[in-house]
Amino acid sequence: MLSKTLQKAFNDQINHELTSSYLYLSMAAFAESQNLPGFANWLKIQTKEESCHAMKLYKFVNERGGRVELQKIEQPPFEFKSPTALFEEVLKHERKITALINKLYESALKEKDYPAQVLLHEFIAEQVEEEASASAILETLKMAGEKGHALIMMDRQLARRGQN
Ligand code: MG
Repeated sequence: MLSKTLQKAFNDQINHELTSSYLYLSMAAFAESQNLPGFANWLKIQTKEESCHAMKLYKFVNERGGRVELQKIEQPPFEFKSPTALFEEVLKHERKITALINKLYESALKEKDYPAQVLLHEFIAEQVEEEASASAILETLKMAGEKGHALIMMDRQLARRGQN
């Protein structure tokens, strides 16, 4: 049985994952508006992944005899200064999520909840990948610039996510 403290912490994390999903969908919509279908593709896949993370936590709370309580999701940003600024936001956001996952893990340690710790190992590993991929894209954007050919090449690269 999930402790009340962890139930609250897991419900908060479900909200953070759904907030992430909503943020990436808003970013995807921005990319569509800028005629960057590859960026939009990458971000829409990200949206789906975040909602999968939320559902894994949802399943866990239920399996452990807890009660899922959904919370309010704030309106995400609507405009971004540039594709580079957008990816700066992605990386900043993922770093924030990493800190939240680590905090949740600390609570699971404190509560001596071993199943929660095992589940969270997967999330901790996932965050390493999330930060690495956002950082790699951001570095390429900074290096190649945002004008003309470089941006088109980047858009083509991001269009390939989910195709293999
Ligand atoms: Mg996530």
